[in-house]
Amino acid sequence: MPTLPALHVERSSVSGAYPPLPATWATQVTAGYCPGMQAIRDAILAGAPGEELAALPLPEAYRAAFVRLDETEMFEGLSSDEKDPRKSLHVGEVAVPELAPDECFIAVMASAINFNTVWTSIFEPLPTFGFLARLGKESVWGARHDLPYHVVGSDASGVVLRTGSAVRNWKAGDRVVIHCNYVDDQDPSAHDDSMLAANQRIWGFETNFGGLADLSVVKANQLMPKPEHLSWEEAACNALCNSTSYRMLVSKNGADMKQGDVVLVWGATGGLGGYAVQYVLNGGGIPVGVVSSASKIKLLEALGCEAAIDRAAKAYRFWVDEHTQDESEWRRFGKDIRAVAGEDPDIVFEHPGRQTMGASVFVAKRGGTVVTCAATSGYMIEYDNRHLWMKLKQIKSSHFANYREAWDANRLIALGAIQPILSVVYPLEEVGEAAQQVHGNLHEGKIGVLCLAPSEGLGIANPELREKVGEERITAFRRLGA
Ligand code: NAP
Repeated sequence: MPTLPALHVERSSVSGAYPPLPATWATQVTAGYCPGMQAIRDAILAGAPGEELAALPLPEAYRAAFVRLDETEMFEGLSSDEKDPRKSLHVGEVAVPELAPDECFIAVMASAINFNTVWTSIFEPLPTFGFLARLGKESVWGARHDLPYHVVGSDASGVVLRTGSAVRNWKAGDRVVIHCNYVDDQDPSAHDDSMLAANQRIWGFETNFGGLADLSVVKANQLMPKPEHLSWEEAACNALCNSTSYRMLVSKNGADMKQGDVVLVWGATGGLGGYAVQYVLNGGGIPVGVVSSASKIKLLEALGCEAAIDRAAKAYRFWVDEHTQDESEWRRFGKDIRAVAGEDPDIVFEHPGRQTMGASVFVAKRGGTVVTCAATSGYMIEYDNRHLWMKLKQIKSSHFANYREAWDANRLIALGAIQPILSVVYPLEEVGEAAQQVHGNLHEGKIGVLCLAPSEGLGIANPELREKVGEERITAFRRLGA
């Protein structure tokens, strides 16, 4: 492994600015584990008990994927499509931070790519360093996050290594998955629905020390038990998208889907959509999956989603030009939905944003709900309000999930009622390529990333449940993906 100086960077006390990063630092790919992390990994793989793990020394540095503050303008003048995460996402050694009393160090066995890592790596809509600076001003512990590098990643599976003095329910050796709702539980606004907390953040996107790394720092209230019939990478890929889809469809905070509901799911084999389709089927609804290739239609059929639309083959042109939408195309889309599902959707599961929102509002049933959590194709949304109010439709916003919702969604994974949608796995060194696949919409389901886990298929501790759920169902996206 090339030895890079582990970086402890402090702002100048005079100017408040960071010193320039060493030119060599973080531009080299670190091809192995940092020495101390290797011993931790070996102990985990050998099944060492918690006391033994807790006694192992923590290294000063760990391997992580990050973007650099001094590169936030590297894509200036390029279109979004031309901005390449392979150029901006680095893998190198960073310093292990101090642990706050309510936090844990996690030895990360595997992680996954989420679209938020794509946003961070192309510095859109804004560089995420602004989030870190804001967090840095909140408290002495928050100040640790304000660094000239941002360790990204909002999903992980792994093992608890150390717990802060205020952590009660978890101990070294616990095998966990991490959800990304980062909330200060001493804030009263966090005590109804914690997604409404004034300082709610997404770990690894709006905080530093994320999951695409060999080590991570998380709050104890982000931990959930690892579903033990799954491998490290199968367990790591779920929490963010699965919990988001759960809140959007199942929770009373979302669309509160009921039996028989027709649910139009955009991107039905993507990260969110792959879980959404399962929730609709489990809940007695009728999913109508929209995808963009014949192979994805086949994948939907294999998942039990009989009503599907290939938007590429149909070549919808919802927008005539940059400023004008075409209602006749919305109408054509609505007819196609009726042709496959027999009626209009009670719920539209929205996330593409600007390109589709006009159509989504139009095709929803009278009194129906459009539930939205994102705007991949643009966040300045336009729809015809007459179709909303005259037909008493509603648009419901949703964002990730509170701890309870994430816990309940994880429980469904652990019971084998919802399956991971892992399609492919990359080593941490190739995180840029993995993010580029998602950026280019070249993937299906979730892309996993191996961190401390040396190979795929490790970490299954409940083979009996795995057999009961069925290898075919658990690995459907791996086997059937294009
Ligand atoms: P993903 O894995 O890339 O899947 C999204 C799918 O949407 C794509 O595979 C594509 O499927 C479809 N799509 C993309 N652009 C489209 C367009 N212009 N028109 C129609 N369909 C389009 O991403 P994801 O993980 O599902 O996330 C989707 C979005 O939600 C991202 O913007 C992400 O940042 C956001 N998100 C938000 C939250 C939250 O808590 N607020 C949580 C997770 C994700 P086809 O090409 O097959 O149609």
